[in-house]
Amino acid sequence: MSFRAAYFPGVSDEDWSDWRWQMRNALKSKDDLGQVFDLTADEIAALDKPNGHLPVSVTPYYASLIPKDDSSDPLRRTMIPVMQEFVAGEGESDDPLGEQTHSPVPGIVHTYKDKVLFLATDFCATYCRYCTRARLVGSGGHSASRERWGNGLQYIESHPGIRDVLISGGDPLTIADDKLDWLLGRLHGIEHIEIIRIGTKIPAVLPQRITPELCDMLRKYHPLWMSVHFTHPNECTSETEDACALLADAGIPLCSQTVLLKGVNDDLETMRTLMHTLLRFRVKPYYLLQCDLITGSSHFRTPVQAGLDIIKGLHGHTTGYAVPTYVIDAPGGGGKVPVSPDYVVGEKDGKLLLLNHLGETYTYPK
Ligand SMILES: *Cc1c(COP(=O)(O)O)cnc(C)c1O
Repeated sequence: MSFRAAYFPGVSDEDWSDWRWQMRNALKSKDDLGQVFDLTADEIAALDKPNGHLPVSVTPYYASLIPKDDSSDPLRRTMIPVMQEFVAGEGESDDPLGEQTHSPVPGIVHTYKDKVLFLATDFCATYCRYCTRARLVGSGGHSASRERWGNGLQYIESHPGIRDVLISGGDPLTIADDKLDWLLGRLHGIEHIEIIRIGTKIPAVLPQRITPELCDMLRKYHPLWMSVHFTHPNECTSETEDACALLADAGIPLCSQTVLLKGVNDDLETMRTLMHTLLRFRVKPYYLLQCDLITGSSHFRTPVQAGLDIIKGLHGHTTGYAVPTYVIDAPGGGGKVPVSPDYVVGEKDGKLLLLNHLGETYTYPK
């Protein structure tokens, strides 16, 4: 409320709760952001760069979760660019997952045998600075239009081996209800499609978008699952809790995806709090992702050991449901590879040596 009173005085509750108002009033420029945040010289220099590849956008709601004067704030670091974003680190590229080479038709990424990624839009409500699809988001090249979706739908229709479509982008929940209804209807009508999934960050950055009307539309397309991108416990507000409740009550199983980010969420305490809160929100922690080698992301990347230590600190120490699978998306398009602490530490006399969560050794016959 104090944020609203300070920066959006006179805005009605109705407008503030309207997702379209939130999108129309997103903070996109140095001037917009400068009204709300004490920008550092480095942030200003990055915002002034003429050829920044990845657009900037922060919904007023999401901005309200970020303090004005702390440039090390975890959510701020994921939203406001810094000059390091323009430094290409070792091994980084604009398409680290080789999605271009696994794209049989525009808007489809077919890396695995029985599932495809459907890039429904290149638009997002907010742009994460570590976006793995920075090469295409916000470019307008993948607009949400029935015409552009035609090729992808045709590809899926003509490949009966595909049983799972993950609608991603961009953020599919930025698409208007009627258009999304049409797309889901088309996919749902394909006989060999067994499940549809939506990948989104909307419940965290624009929870106002999750309306009863949207949920009534989505529930027509079961089995429909959702992968929700969460970064930090600071995102877990009552608005986001309500949004997750609406989705869960519509029968949509919710799973989370979190990118491991240096100085943002790379400590056990933060990650445990996030996973616990997600369980309370009825979201099953699904993936903890090592930060992809996207150009300009080296300031976000942790050693792989940091992820392993977090998994080690969760498994056996709390609810099993709270432990995500830690994965590295193999550069070049090899797919997601799970990486796990070693719990099988050797063998002796035909028995496996097993390490439990307390570091004690047990044996079990091979
Ligand atoms: C992550 C991803 C999927 C979905 O993978 P799951 O492990 O089934 O969640 C599908 N296609 C591509 C290209 C992906 O990167």
